[in-house]
Amino acid sequence: LEPAYGFMVRVRMPGGVCSPKQWLQLDELACRYGHGSLRITTRQTFQFHGVLKRHLKATIAGINHALLNTIAACGDVNRNVVCHNNPYLSPLHEEIYAWAKHLSEHLLPKTRAYHEIWLDGERVAGTPAEEEPLYGKCYLPRKFKIGIALPPYNDIDVFAQDLGFIAIAEDNALIGFNVAVGGGMGMSHGEPATYPRLAEVIGFCSPDRLLEVAENVVRVQRDFGDRSNRKHARLKYTIDDRGTPWFKAELESRLGWSLEPARPFRFESTGDRFGWVQDERGEWHLTLGILSGRLRDTPEVAWLTALREIARVHEGDFRLTTNQNLIIARIREATKPKIEALLDRYRIPDAQHWSGLRQHALSCVALPTCGLAMAESERWLPTLLARLEPLFKKAGLEKDAITLRVSGCPNGCARPYLGEIGLVGKSLGKYSLYLGAAFDGSRLNTLYRDGLSEDEVVDTLAPIIAHFGRDRRPAESFGDFVVRAGYVSECNAGREFQRS
Ligand code: SF4
Repeated sequence: LEPAYGFMVRVRMPGGVCSPKQWLQLDELACRYGHGSLRITTRQTFQFHGVLKRHLKATIAGINHALLNTIAACGDVNRNVVCHNNPYLSPLHEEIYAWAKHLSEHLLPKTRAYHEIWLDGERVAGTPAEEEPLYGKCYLPRKFKIGIALPPYNDIDVFAQDLGFIAIAEDNALIGFNVAVGGGMGMSHGEPATYPRLAEVIGFCSPDRLLEVAENVVRVQRDFGDRSNRKHARLKYTIDDRGTPWFKAELESRLGWSLEPARPFRFESTGDRFGWVQDERGEWHLTLGILSGRLRDTPEVAWLTALREIARVHEGDFRLTTNQNLIIARIREATKPKIEALLDRYRIPDAQHWSGLRQHALSCVALPTCGLAMAESERWLPTLLARLEPLFKKAGLEKDAITLRVSGCPNGCARPYLGEIGLVGKSLGKYSLYLGAAFDGSRLNTLYRDGLSEDEVVDTLAPIIAHFGRDRRPAESFGDFVVRAGYVSECNAGREFQRS
């Protein structure tokens, strides 16, 4: 008898957008084959956990039936393309989202093996037609992540992407993108040769050259990335080993033209804005806060049931955010009262009433689901918040926006090295505490204390939070304060991260 092997299945959903019909199909699959919950990831998609091997094919076929798929959602390829996705906040959103979809399609592996294996497609493996024009026989040395940000919103953490595009607009018209390369979060504890790194802006391109730039960045990494050591295989190491000027020259030699000088831009925050908003066309959008992106029915809140009911009456779409939250978007005036009644009936919380810390908290899934986890993350976050929130309240900071990122291991799926407070699992019940990232996502944090228990995390942070409450300057962020007050020194480069 074979053991009941469980798998994780991740959906490819560029820009995190799905229709109500697709929502209902994904919900049904999660209940039938998964753990009875949907989980929004930090890359704007869904992961199904605990899918048994015998249900794998039916689950993947079901996702395809919903006109979505799982192609290249994992593996050494370009992953799910993320983008800023709140249509209310910018009329440019639709354009940005369209580019995210183009990028996703353009960089998709062309193999038909996926269809052969999972969808009972015609046999193709081993035939001469089976060839991969971009990825070649060996694909990329490592996973590759792309995102598009729309200033002043850095909700996608553009500097954490292997390849980040920063949309530049003039008079509400998109004129192009700044190109940022070499970001990435993963590292290993105690191995200074591994480190998180922020992407550097190397130039600007017009929209019609976006795909060409992306494809050639991927080609440079394909040809020069380290294939001998997976811990040194991301684009960030290729760039640090050879230098940014080399990378730019290599990219431009393949393009046959030069990037233009980067255009000015300014980010304000990495967070989402919660609650109801109405756009110029009269459509409503509701951003819901979902702690850790976990949607399940509990005695307190029937998330899955509520959203299932909402999907049955909603005619717009659902948009997942890279902060693990959910936007019910493009709600018609006539539908709004029905949705409000469902939110009330199922006691869906209004994140506008949350503390600023809770509104800006992320966690990865970690135990018991992730095989790489060294410590708790998602299951620990509610307890941690319940202990930290009183400290912020006592310091008069209850409503202040402060980013808290918790990851169960140094791979950093919750982008912990960009948290003003970052906690990274080291062993069961023990965490490394990082402080001092910039609130707008433009500076990494720095290790402050290592190997802390939950009590020690709280006891270590208590006097710093109180100090911040007393001595902060007007509009000063927590990350900037801990650097100014000398708790940590500013981290200027990824390769210095583990030497600080
Ligand atoms: Fe798993 Fe580590 Fe990613 Fe958390 S950060 S989901 S523990 S790999």
